[in-house]
Amino acid sequence: MPHSQTLEGNTGLVTVDLKQVAANWRALAALVNPAECGAVVKADAYGLGVARVVPALRAAGCATFFVATAEEAAEVRALTAESVIYVLDGLVPGSAPQLAEVGARPALATLDDCLEWAALCDSRDRVMAAALHIDTGLNRLGLSAADVTALAADGSVFNRIGVSLVMSHLACADVPGDAKNRQQLLAFEQLRAALPPAPASLAASDGLMLGADYRFDLVRPGYAIYGGQPSRELVAPVQPAVRVQARVLQVRELAAGDSVGYGAVWTCGTRSRIATVAAGYGDGFARSMSGVNGELRGQVSFRGRLAPVVGRVSMDLITVDVTHLGDGGPNRGDFVDLIGPGLTLEAVGQAGGTIGYEVLTRLSRRFHRHYVG
Ligand SMILES: *Cc1c(COP(=O)(O)O)cnc(C)c1O
Repeated sequence: MPHSQTLEGNTGLVTVDLKQVAANWRALAALVNPAECGAVVKADAYGLGVARVVPALRAAGCATFFVATAEEAAEVRALTAESVIYVLDGLVPGSAPQLAEVGARPALATLDDCLEWAALCDSRDRVMAAALHIDTGLNRLGLSAADVTALAADGSVFNRIGVSLVMSHLACADVPGDAKNRQQLLAFEQLRAALPPAPASLAASDGLMLGADYRFDLVRPGYAIYGGQPSRELVAPVQPAVRVQARVLQVRELAAGDSVGYGAVWTCGTRSRIATVAAGYGDGFARSMSGVNGELRGQVSFRGRLAPVVGRVSMDLITVDVTHLGDGGPNRGDFVDLIGPGLTLEAVGQAGGTIGYEVLTRLSRRFHRHYVG
């Protein structure tokens, strides 16, 4: 991806390559063809900025967006008048009119969700589209098998609402060989058969790579569009689209025995050069990436060469051992990469004891967002 611009006064920079985001979506769309490829843009497009990501995806051909909340649906609607928008959290009690207002479709997840949406349709004297979200074994959100049986036995609710999608979500799709994938696929096919015919959706970024069986009519990738690799074994046809950089504020020479940072949890074994970088847990750089003697976790990269975080991550600052970089190391004012060439989202997630998804969505507003492409 292109080199980021250095903006004066900025301590941290998130560079989003919108061309790569669009290319990733197109690659996924080609992979799942003839199924439709939607885009999950919840949590402000995984922290990258929905206002820029949605228009880019729309221009690439995406027609169906998924968000988590009614507020997010309104935000996306303001960016695209004609796209289909599904709300994955379903109906918070009383929120049906708010969703109808912006022409968003709830993913109805409980019997009460279904009844509330049906009542709204009755009151407006028209059927309004919604998804039925059925739980096939994740046991998190969605209609149970018993709920589906009850709905199917009555049948009247289906005449009142417009079921435009039947969806479910996989628990273990990041592990292709997990037996739970096939169990959920079978449960989904069985429950779907009890419902009125409607397009179906089961797979997110990882599930869509499990094969054509899992793609049905519509897939719902999020993470892979933003360049993440969601599967532990299968490689998604996408490239990184996000680079995160932070500024070096000071470089200091320390002697053997000197400690670094809060709690003095890391001590130099030898004469060392330490760069202090303007990023911390207040920016989403996890405190769990602190480096103690004998156990280094977080890393940054300078011109493609890695350097370990030493000492505690504090709110605004990290300290990095750049001794081994010698004269090629960073100086005051240089940017180092926190995520970028040689430092994937997955590697950063693993270093912090979490996943790339959390790394992305935690990037703070303090980092300036810069868009290219
Ligand atoms: C977040 C979410 C997705 C997208 O998941 P990715 O792994 O980011 O592709 C799809 N479906 C549901 C129900 C979700 O909650």
